[in-house]
Amino acid sequence: MASKPAIDIRFWGARGSFPMPGPQALEFGGHTSCVEVRAGGHVMIFDAGSGIVPLGKALLDEAVTEIDLFFTHCHYDHIIGLPYFLPAFWDKVRFRIWAGHMQDGSSPEDLVAGIFRPPYFPITKDWMRAKVEYRRFTPGDVLEPAPGIRLVTGSLRHPNGAVGYRIEYGGAVFCYLTDFEHDDGPGDAEIRRLAKDADLAVLDATYTPEEYPHFKNFGHSTWLHCGRLCAEAGVERWGLFHHMHQRSDPDLHVIEKRAQEQFPNAFAVREGQRIHLVGKAANARVKS
Ligand SMILES: [Zn+2]
Ligand SMILES: [Zn+2]
Repeated sequence: MASKPAIDIRFWGARGSFPMPGPQALEFGGHTSCVEVRAGGHVMIFDAGSGIVPLGKALLDEAVTEIDLFFTHCHYDHIIGLPYFLPAFWDKVRFRIWAGHMQDGSSPEDLVAGIFRPPYFPITKDWMRAKVEYRRFTPGDVLEPAPGIRLVTGSLRHPNGAVGYRIEYGGAVFCYLTDFEHDDGPGDAEIRRLAKDADLAVLDATYTPEEYPHFKNFGHSTWLHCGRLCAEAGVERWGLFHHMHQRSDPDLHVIEKRAQEQFPNAFAVREGQRIHLVGKAANARVKS
């Protein structure tokens, strides 16, 4: 019997702001934002934080030749791994790079040129040997990177702009909503629109509720606001994401436990964690 269509998710980096390697981060991991999503065999990557470096090695070992990369935005923690993403340097790869957050008229190509730029990096983007295509979109657009995959986009409240993504495939829904600050207004309404009835969502839970007043307008949210937004949107299961870089594994355990006391469907995302999503429409449930 053919298997049911599903979305497969693997977290290669869940840390915000800066990588945190070392013995204090063995469980939750030290790499910054990078999520691999496969739907119908199609490989999509969300953000090119430092986690994209080991992902690139894995994709090369598997000889994957079709890759779509979607940026939420281009703060350092979301782009820092791109120059070390090995498939970009293999001429058999078709590499599509998508971005839609830019508020200054720049293009995705400009964004990548700014990453591969002497004297900050020794080579320019023209050294990439993959067939690179740049795709710009406007938040609110619905994209179709491959047949049957519906990718809903929306604008998030974050300094310099950011994009939230809702991936729909085979009746399953996964939402990638990082780098936003709740506002009890239109920003929250957009989060609820994107996350509506999702099987799984990961959200920006950088701060604790106690820390947040000291970091207002920094562009990040708390697990408490994420939990409320997910409850209002009817999300089945949700993950705390974009862990503050100084937090150790024990710190994150405490935060996860506090969140779960109020929201039993919450968990803190761990680097390396895989989740197989079969949608409600296909009789589904979330397994990990
Ligand atoms: Zn970030
Ligand atoms: Zn950011």
